[in-house]
Amino acid sequence: MIEQALRDFFGTLVEVSSLDTDLLLFAMLVAVCIITFDSLQIIATRKRREAGLEKKSITLGLDGSKMLPVKNYVSESQGLAGRPDAIIIENGFIIPVERKPLARKLRDRYVAQLLVYMRLIEEVEGKKPPYGYLILGSNCRRVKITNTDNRQAWLQKMIDEMHEILDGAQAMATPRVSKCKRCDVSSACSFKAEEASEQLVKVGQR
Ligand code: SF4
Repeated sequence: MIEQALRDFFGTLVEVSSLDTDLLLFAMLVAVCIITFDSLQIIATRKRREAGLEKKSITLGLDGSKMLPVKNYVSESQGLAGRPDAIIIENGFIIPVERKPLARKLRDRYVAQLLVYMRLIEEVEGKKPPYGYLILGSNCRRVKITNTDNRQAWLQKMIDEMHEILDGAQAMATPRVSKCKRCDVSSACSFKAEEASEQLVKVGQR
């Protein structure tokens, strides 16, 4: 009788200690999962910030991502092609995002590039993006560029000029004193603009 009681007592002890071990292992597993999830959240938040994305944005594509690759947009009719750094959806619109990590300020060429993406998205996806985002500098300053008719007309003028040059028209240099002063190749450049003579210069006329 006593022997049976002792056997039951030790059996219960083994079960309780086994249950404790299982519980402990389960608790550890939960803790590891929470830590891993938190780390992934931090990484995802940082990546989203670097790409200029907000929580309300839905990421459709990220350049370099295997899971969410960005589409290569090509327009045969416009003679244009491009792939933004990221594509997001905001308020039902497909929005291009372009990162310029070394940029110190907003430049026309960045705006032109983004306008090209918006034009391509409109043709390929059938819906005009009302704006796009430029992410500038190491602090990821986000600049919203609206897709206005005036801006698209400005872009069209540049595209027309490029096509004319490709068809044989003479290219025009537009040197500026402020740029030429800081230019690394100014000593070897025959189009360099100087203080008193800032003007448009036709390539090949000097
Ligand atoms: S020096 Fe020549 S290459 Fe340099 S910015 Fe001026 S025009 Fe352009």
